[in-house]
Amino acid sequence: MMKVSKVLHVHPRAESLRIREKLIKHYRLGVVALAGLIAHGRGEAFDYLIGEKTMKSTFKAIKAAASAMLQAKYPVISVNGNTAALVANDLVKLAEVTNAKIEVNLFYRSLERELAIKRILEAAGAREVLGVGEAASAQIPEVCSERRRVDPQGILRADVVLVPLEDGDRTQALRKMGKIVIAIDLNPLSRTAQYASITIIDNVIRALPALVREAEKMRNEETEKLREILSEFNNREVLANAIKHINLRLSELAQKGFHIFEDNETS
Ligand code: ATP
Ligand code: MG
Repeated sequence: MMKVSKVLHVHPRAESLRIREKLIKHYRLGVVALAGLIAHGRGEAFDYLIGEKTMKSTFKAIKAAASAMLQAKYPVISVNGNTAALVANDLVKLAEVTNAKIEVNLFYRSLERELAIKRILEAAGAREVLGVGEAASAQIPEVCSERRRVDPQGILRADVVLVPLEDGDRTQALRKMGKIVIAIDLNPLSRTAQYASITIIDNVIRALPALVREAEKMRNEETEKLREILSEFNNREVLANAIKHINLRLSELAQKGFHIFEDNETS
């Protein structure tokens, strides 16, 4: 018989439930859009399949991302409601370590939401937040959603853009503009994941702190070394490895049958 109390005690959903509560709270505060809650659910499903741990191959992408941001002339971090709610402190830390600008960019734009996100970022220590209100006066060609509005002092002139939780259309458009796009997305099959230059297939909750740690480690590296890391990076390989990881994990679980209860079963 399996011991249910033990199962609940080690239940991996505990952290996931805390994250949901955080998003709901920020939905009520006007930071997260209703559709942001649904987007999170799609991400969570992939986290379940991945095993809720950073994959080995993802560390390669994190290293390449840190190196791209440190080498950039004008790096910009694009922030939406979900990321502001979940990882505001790490976004601000990353901006400091890599000398990047922070810009609010939303699929569902409203001045109230932009200001609410700006406030969260400022409370986390951000000194400058771009893309709010009239500041987002430029447009990215071929993007139909409100995601097209950008700040001429931010994403428009950036050479490297970090887009945690992005939409596929804009990822493609930013690539067409010649920018290096770093995406964080739990779904290796999304258009964002597939079109980005560097795809970090992981939960933003784990990816952002890891990216900050990596950037801190690498900030004093020689430019030549940073260049090498980036030139050796292969995003196709990262995408393929993530799909293989899910495939292998599911195959193993399919052979075993139950997975949650395996340590708790007494035969
Ligand atoms: P695309 O537009 O790229 O084809 P999509 O339309 O399937 O993707 P969207 O609704 O545009 O998805 O964006 C949500 C994306 O964000 C999903 O791909 C989901 O996996 C990802 N996501 C949601 N929450 C997280 C999270 N906490 N960490 C990382 N990724 C997440
Ligand atoms: Mg989409």
